[in-house]
Amino acid sequence: MKNSDRLYRIKPKETVRLADFPAEATGHFTREDEALDELQRHRKRLDQLQELFAIDGRHALLIVLQGMDTGGKDGTIRHIFSGVNPQGCDVTSFKVPSPLEARHDFLWRAHYAVPPRGMIGIFNRSHYEDVLVVRVHGQITGKQAHQRMRDIVHWEEMLANNNVIILKFFLHISYDEQTRRLQSRLQDPDKRWKLSAADIAERKLWPKYQEAYEDVLSRTSQKTAPWYIVPANHKWYRNAVISRVLVETLENLKLRHPKPSVDPAKIKL
Ligand code: AMP
Ligand code: MG
Repeated sequence: MKNSDRLYRIKPKETVRLADFPAEATGHFTREDEALDELQRHRKRLDQLQELFAIDGRHALLIVLQGMDTGGKDGTIRHIFSGVNPQGCDVTSFKVPSPLEARHDFLWRAHYAVPPRGMIGIFNRSHYEDVLVVRVHGQITGKQAHQRMRDIVHWEEMLANNNVIILKFFLHISYDEQTRRLQSRLQDPDKRWKLSAADIAERKLWPKYQEAYEDVLSRTSQKTAPWYIVPANHKWYRNAVISRVLVETLENLKLRHPKPSVDPAKIKL
């Protein structure tokens, strides 16, 4: 999966048509177990890199996960971060805004959840819901959505100027794959709880959501806060792609230990 980065990263101002991105892609993998081996390697590396990232302390890492219902946001977090020290990671799940949140500007709760330097923060849904779900439901106009997207771009730029590294992943599944996943939730007594009437209603709005996502992906990918469109029909490929981007990003930072405050040669125990 060399060059996964360039393959799925959206360039600034690139016009995105989701139909051009096959959700069932598996890159150079022909078998699931090859991808699982790779994920396993990435997980180990990520654990080492996270420790160094925390010690180095110069940057924060913000990972944004977006996708349609059943797209695999929870599974991505579980599979990729299961080996990482929980002290170095924070997950924030964005739900319908509380009455207090709704009285603030839409970035208020997101800004509060941005990780501090040395930490990895994962947004399970994010400030992007404020240009997706509310737009699809007609609570804001297209014009307002575009204004918000400009605000998001500026805000993310400001974060990047303050050493926040931002990676945004759109988990791209097909409509048929969502059908299969909803079916399996219906049939599996252990998964049924995940399903709500709202999920079924949202599914009817699939084309509107895809359009809203295309607009977001076309307008808000930036060099310092890129979007990746991750083929996510196959969970193992999704995990291999995302974990690779994370490992590559952290490796490129040239993380280092700070200079020791003591001279080991001068210490006698
Ligand atoms: P889940 O991810 O299944 O826990 O569902 C969370 C729900 O909260 C989804 O239906 C989201 O669309 C909704 N949600 C998250 N953020 C917002 C927002 N800013 N405005 C409206 N609904 C939101
Ligand atoms: Mg849900």
